[in-house]
Amino acid sequence: MRAARTVLISGASIAGPALALWLHRYGFTATVVERAPELRTGGYKVDLRGGAIEICERMGILDEVRAHSTDMAGGSYVDARGRTVGELPAEIFGGRAEQDDEIMRGDLARILHERTRDDVEYLFGDSIASLHDDGEGVDVVFESGARRRFDLVVGADGMHSHTRRLVFGDERRFKRHLGAYISIFTAPDRLGLDRWETYHARPNKLVSVYSTSGERAGTAKNCFVFASPAELAYDHRDVLAQKRLLADAFAGDDWEIPRLIADSADAEDFYFDAIATITMDRWSRGRVVLLGDAAHCTSPASGQGTGLALTGAYVLACELAAAGGDHVAAFAAYETVMRPGVEVNRRFAEKMVKEMTVSSRRKIALRMLLVRTLPKMPWKNLIARMIREEIQRAANAVPVKEYGAYERNGTGRMNPVNGTLQGI
Ligand SMILES: Cc1cc2nc3c(=O)[nH]c(=O)nc-3n(C[C@H](O)[C@H](O)[C@H](O)COP(=O)(O)OP(=O)(O)OC[C@H]3O[C@@H](n4cnc5c(N)ncnc54)[C@H](O)[C@@H]3O)c2cc1C
Repeated sequence: MRAARTVLISGASIAGPALALWLHRYGFTATVVERAPELRTGGYKVDLRGGAIEICERMGILDEVRAHSTDMAGGSYVDARGRTVGELPAEIFGGRAEQDDEIMRGDLARILHERTRDDVEYLFGDSIASLHDDGEGVDVVFESGARRRFDLVVGADGMHSHTRRLVFGDERRFKRHLGAYISIFTAPDRLGLDRWETYHARPNKLVSVYSTSGERAGTAKNCFVFASPAELAYDHRDVLAQKRLLADAFAGDDWEIPRLIADSADAEDFYFDAIATITMDRWSRGRVVLLGDAAHCTSPASGQGTGLALTGAYVLACELAAAGGDHVAAFAAYETVMRPGVEVNRRFAEKMVKEMTVSSRRKIALRMLLVRTLPKMPWKNLIARMIREEIQRAANAVPVKEYGAYERNGTGRMNPVNGTLQGI
């Protein structure tokens, strides 16, 4: 079998460009195809913790990530009349360990794209129309009509992966609805926030509004989560229908909710989706492999999807390099390394989604009592540590394996030291 050299990656968000960076470093030729006409820079804040921070360091992007930190100072819960119930500093609020950080998804995508665009071919505004794996390579026909042949194809095209659908079948076979929906969009800053997040909980619902260090002046992100055990029927391309579903879910609610919801009308970056996971028996078939949310979405409730996307990209590229381009060995090793940690995060998400949508007024009142009294409690550090440890277990569930020694060359790139990885 000829060693793989050329790789087509579908999706230019986090997993795709991160994989391209590592593949280029190991001498593969990577092409990234992205359906959007240009890099999607919008999005929400994503935590980078534990192993993901180590991977950013190894990618040589950690300083830039830190420079774009959301730099959140903390958060507070408010009651129905907008009165602050309690405030918590960012470390407790985010359950962060010292080295952890938080960045807007779009900023991270831009950093990864800028680092790779001179070495990697990007095809924006296109998509894979069909692919045929003949055992020796993959013939790809693009929506644009172009035809190309690659040694390998990687689907890094998110929870609703198009590559998965083409190769493994209907999404419904792999998707598990966790009983809630999430919506987020940019809106006028109604609450005058500065690096702060304000929460208001209702039975089965949670509203949060936040403004990060990089937020455009006068704007904030409005975020809504609501429980819905049944899956809602809607067309994912019909944004108006999704805005209506959101408005219906919060109809008649108090606090600032009517105004915050009304702001969705003008939102250009409106996001609405089920909180759901993707579970598959295997992530590869022949010369096609899935990566990031496409392979194992653990949902926003895990808070680790970005970290897993970065870690998976590192593991997949390093295993391909270590196997000298033997994709069969590399794909098997990639799953062996990633799967146990993905499982930990999936279980974590199932637990966290219930925390996001507390079901009764009594439970909300108990939580508010905790938020109000925690900062004054002598054992507040113990509670903070317990919260942090659980999150850290998930964040470090995939070990950041050493693939031999690396050395940095003059431009700061890390290259495998001779002999530690097989030649490609
Ligand atoms: C509200 C919210 C909050 C979140 N918070 C966190 C958090 O705190 N921490 C965290 O770690 N994670 C968080 N996540 C999850 C995180 O965003 C994802 O896990 C992460 O972005 C996965 O990266 P990915 O590259 O695998 O997929 P995605 O980011 O989904 O990117 C997929 C890419 O593929 C492209 N694409 C789609 N179809 C095609 C096609 N047919 N052809 C070509 N390209 C295509 C898309 O345009 C997109 O650019 C959150 C998610 C949401 C929605």
